[in-house]
This record gives sequence, structure tokens and C-alpha cells, in this order.
Amino acid sequence: MTEAPVRIVLGTGNAHKVAELAAILGPMLPGVELLRYEGPSPVEDGDTFVANALIKARAAHRVSGLPAIADDSGIAVDALDGAPGIHSARFAGTGRDDDNRALLLERLESAEDRTARFVCAAVYVDDERELVRSAEWPGAVLAAERGAGGFGYDPLFVPADGDGRTAAELSPEEKNARSHRALAFRALAEALAAR
Ligand code: IMP
Repeated sequence: MTEAPVRIVLGTGNAHKVAELAAILGPMLPGVELLRYEGPSPVEDGDTFVANALIKARAAHRVSGLPAIADDSGIAVDALDGAPGIHSARFAGTGRDDDNRALLLERLESAEDRTARFVCAAVYVDDERELVRSAEWPGAVLAAERGAGGFGYDPLFVPADGDGRTAAELSPEEKNARSHRALAFRALAEALAAR
């Protein structure tokens, strides 16, 4: 008899993130079926990446009755004291990635220091436990966009560990090998697999 797969809900409505998470987690969690959370979006009113990731995973767990995984992520820019940070998705107030990027370029117009980092908090929640792992991907913000891949701030972000291409110029495989989301979820999957 074949064993039924363990089902885990991904507590995010962002289609780009679902695709990245499926690619990152799939090979690490064989026998696990990743489902997309279809319920109402909770209010993300935490003041840290970890707090907001827990809000999303707890909501997905409560509504679905299944173990849930979620992340909260964003870009923290040194010249802006870490902004937009947890407000990255709604920085410009329109919900559009291109508006967010335009506002970031405007804010950095006269900045000499363009260093920044993507940050990701990855969490797992079930009836018995909550696991949390965080990671960063350091780099810098360009003065103009480059590349058509990825999402969000990717066309503006040049990783410090790369060859000068923006995150939007990397293949999905290259981005998923070393991004903030990949590092955080790999650590989370290792913690889960160890139990
Ligand atoms: P969240 O869905 O509330 O976690 O918001 C994350 C936001 O941060 C996204 O809408 C993007 O603007 C930004 N962000 C997070 N991760 C990435 C990434 O890998 N590339 C580009 N932008 C990202």
C-alpha cells in the first residue's frame, strides 16, 4: 500500500512566491504535497518579518486544519534605515511592483550608499509547534532597472555574491540556489526533516 502524502498549506497568495517555494521545497520534502492556501488573507499588522510570517501561517493552519508554511519578506535599504522593510509590498501604496520600484529609485536619487539586503522569515506551524528560520541576501540597489525575470524589486537588486547581473537577470534556478527565500526555507526544511 502506498502511503498518503503529507499535505502542507503554503500561506501566501503571491503566485511568484508559490512558484519559488514549490521549486525550493519540493526536492527537500519528498512525499510532501504543497497546497496553495485559498482562505481569507489575514491582516499583517506585525512589526517584524517573523511576526507577519507567523500571522500568515497561523491563519492558513487555522482555516485549513493542515500544517502550514509561510514567509514574510522584503528589501531593507541601508540609506533608508532599513525601509521599506516589512512594508515592501505596499511601499508606494498602489500594490504594484513597478510603482514600488519607482518610489525606491526616487528615494535613493541622491544616495551614495546603495547597499541593501533582501530579508526572509520562513515559518512552519502545526498543532504542536512553530518553527522559525530567517535569512538575508545582501546586495545593492541599481539606479535603473535591468532584467525581466523574478518579481518585486528583482530588476533593481544586484546580489553581492554574483557577477553583476540583477536578480531579475538570473534564471529561476540561479535565484533559488542562493536567495534569502531559498536560504530561509532550506533551513526550515532541514529543521522539519530532522524531526
Ligand atoms: P510579503 O508578500 O508581504 O512578504 O511582501 C514581500 C514583498 O517584498 C514583495 O511584494 C516584494 O515587493 C518584496 N520581495 C520579497 N522577496 C522578494 C524577492 O525575492 N524579489 C523581489 N522582491 C521581493
